[in-house]
Formats: sequence, structure tokens, C-alpha cells
Amino acid sequence: PEYAVPQAPEDPLFGLMAAFRADGDEKKVDLGIGAYRDNDAKPWVLPVVKKADILLRDDPSLNHEYLPIAGLTDFTSAAAKLILGAESPALSEKRVHSMQTISGTGAVHIGALFLRKFYAGAPTVYFSNPTWANHNQIFSNVHLPTSTYPYFSKSTKGLDFAGMKNAISSAPDHSIILLHACAHNPTGVDPTRDQWKELAMLLKQKRHFPFFDCAYQGFASGDLAKDAWAVRYFVEQGFELCIAQSFAKNFGLYGERAGCFHFVTSPSSSATSTTSRIASQLAILQRSEISNPPAYGARIASLILNDTKLFAEWEENLRTMSGRIINMRKALRSKLEELGTPGTWNHITDQIGMFSFTGLSEKQVAELRESSHVYMTKNGRISMAGLNTHNVEYFAKAVDRVVRE
Ligand code: PMP
Repeated sequence: PEYAVPQAPEDPLFGLMAAFRADGDEKKVDLGIGAYRDNDAKPWVLPVVKKADILLRDDPSLNHEYLPIAGLTDFTSAAAKLILGAESPALSEKRVHSMQTISGTGAVHIGALFLRKFYAGAPTVYFSNPTWANHNQIFSNVHLPTSTYPYFSKSTKGLDFAGMKNAISSAPDHSIILLHACAHNPTGVDPTRDQWKELAMLLKQKRHFPFFDCAYQGFASGDLAKDAWAVRYFVEQGFELCIAQSFAKNFGLYGERAGCFHFVTSPSSSATSTTSRIASQLAILQRSEISNPPAYGARIASLILNDTKLFAEWEENLRTMSGRIINMRKALRSKLEELGTPGTWNHITDQIGMFSFTGLSEKQVAELRESSHVYMTKNGRISMAGLNTHNVEYFAKAVDRVVRE
């Protein structure tokens, strides 16, 4: 009945997008949503995706039948190799089950649902503070208790490693620890390799369960192996873990919802049977939620991932996107330093991936929107892809003004 349904608040990010669209000023700048834009602030269809699209359309054997429940096998097996590395012993030992999902969000959700149902004792899920805004509601919606670990240091605008370790070691044993595989959203701050090694040791001591969210492989550094390093290291260390993998950013397939969920079991004599039992239960969850996943985006990604030439072209396209973002980081930092804007700005180039956590306050963010038509989330996060050679100076000057006020 109507009276039992309270009005929910609008999604802050999608609300921000609507406000941007409604703004008639031609100088307006969209630094809200995490989607890649080219130097003219336009969405970019990757040339390799365009090519794969044409190949698919010309393929007379294609039809619109259902995919299997676990998705397109050529896609899921290539996706597993991409994140784990083709030579991963976890793959040769058949310790990995991969299931196609509704992009990264669907992968996080199915993982949450699976853990809620089968992980003994409804453990608490720990997220970084801050984290991707959707994490909390995805896990809460399946009734898993949630908590946070410190992550971002306001003073250094880098990692609060001591705080992070402290919270992880104080968490009850067997907790679920959600980790961003690379290019942390919203801060752009990642642990170093040595810090990842320490974290792995700590998680092992505490018998915690790592849940990796990987939304930016290849998009962050332009190097697929480098961006997968942390996940591969944890797998090497023998963890049982899961991975939510999105192909929204790295293929520019946002609306096609191509993603994958991987469950990796730890090495043991019964690993293959564990994997098979997990696969059977995931299939039931998938069937009850979506029956079977959407075909188009998976076909595109599969074609590219399984063809050496197309794969090389994709890597080139990834370098184009990550390279432009890295250049914008350099440009923004040097403009702010040129202007002598109060504060330090090295964090703009130290942080990586789609986002930068600028350190601007909620009041300054509101002021930027009011006076300069710049749209960003109120936590001071900017999507670097919204900057380009035409607007970076305008944005830097606007920041300079609000910082001096
Ligand atoms: N996790 C993180 C950390 C993200 O930033 C995103 C994209 N904003 C996702 C998951 C999932 O996105 P999608 O469902 O579009 O793949």
C-alpha cells in the first residue's frame, strides 16, 4: 500500500547529471559521472569496439537466442585470463568459476547475495571510507552487516595506511574485506605493492575474505597486467576470494552491461569439487535474478579479447584513454601551481584512474557550481575525463577563486 512506501532520496550522482543537462551556460563543465570523454567532452566509442561491432553485424550465424545461465563461455574464460593472467595456476588447477553478470554492479550484487547465503555467520563487510557510493546499498540490500575502514588521509590526500591496517586487524576474524583492485573510486589513491603485500599478510592472519572490485583494469595505467597486480598477488598467496569485474570503462561499454563474477577457491585436493558446488549455487541465484545475462556487450568484448590483433588494438585504445587522463592531471596541477593557488596540488598527479579527490570542501563545491557552472560531487571528487584542453584552465581559475575566498 502507498502509505508504507516512503519517498526515497534521488540518487545523488544521477541528480547531478540532470542538473548539468538543465544548465544553459555554454561554459559549463561536467566533472560528475565516471564516464570517459574525449578532448571535446564527447563520449568515445573505442575504434576497436566499432570494428568488432561491424564484424558482429556481418556475421550471418548470429541470432538472438538466450545465452546460457552463466553467460557466454568464450567471454567468461577470456575475462578470467585477463584478470588472473593466462598462466595463473588457479586457472590450470580449475579453481576458478566465472559467471557473466550485469556489468560490475551485477557482479558485486551476485557476490553479496552468494556470501549472504553461504558464508557462515553473516560476517560484516568492511568497505574503505570513502568508497563507491553503491557498495553500501548493494550489501545492505542483501542484509549483510557493513562497516568501514579508514582509507583517505585528509592531511596528505593519500592513503591512511596505518588507520586501514588497524581497522582490518581489529575486525572480527573471517570478515569480508572489500578492496578496489586499482584506481580506487572516489579517491584515486591505491596502496603501493609493498602495502598490498602487508595487507595480504594481515588478511591471511585474520582469515578475512577478500572481495575485489575491479572496474578500471587497463583504464587506470594503460597496462592491463599492472592494474591487475594486486588481485594476482592475492591469488598467488592462496586466498579464497572473489572478483567483480566490469567492462564498462575499459571497453567503453557502459550501457551494454558487460561484466563478470569470478570465485577463486584456495589450492587444496578438493578445490575442483568446491568450485563445482559454488558454480551450481551461483547458477541458481543467477536464474532467479536475471535468468541469463545480456549478449551484445559480452560478444563485443569476447571478440576482442580472443583475437590477438584486436586485443593489441584495444591496448592501444586503452593507452589513448589513460594517456589523455594522465595529461589532464599534469595540466591541472601545473595550472594551479602557476596560479599560486593556496595549498599543495601534487595529489592531482599522484592519484590515478578516473577520479581525483581534490580536497575541496562541500561549500567550495557548491560555490563552483553557483559561480562557474562546474558540476562535481559534493565530496570534492572530480572525474578527470571531464577535463580537456579547452576547459582545464577555466576550471583551474575557478578553483583558484574559491580556494582564495
Ligand atoms: N565498482 C566501482 C568501484 C565503480 O567505480 C563502478 C563504476 N562506477 C562499478 C563498480 C560498476 O560499474 P558498472 O556496473 O557500470 O560496471
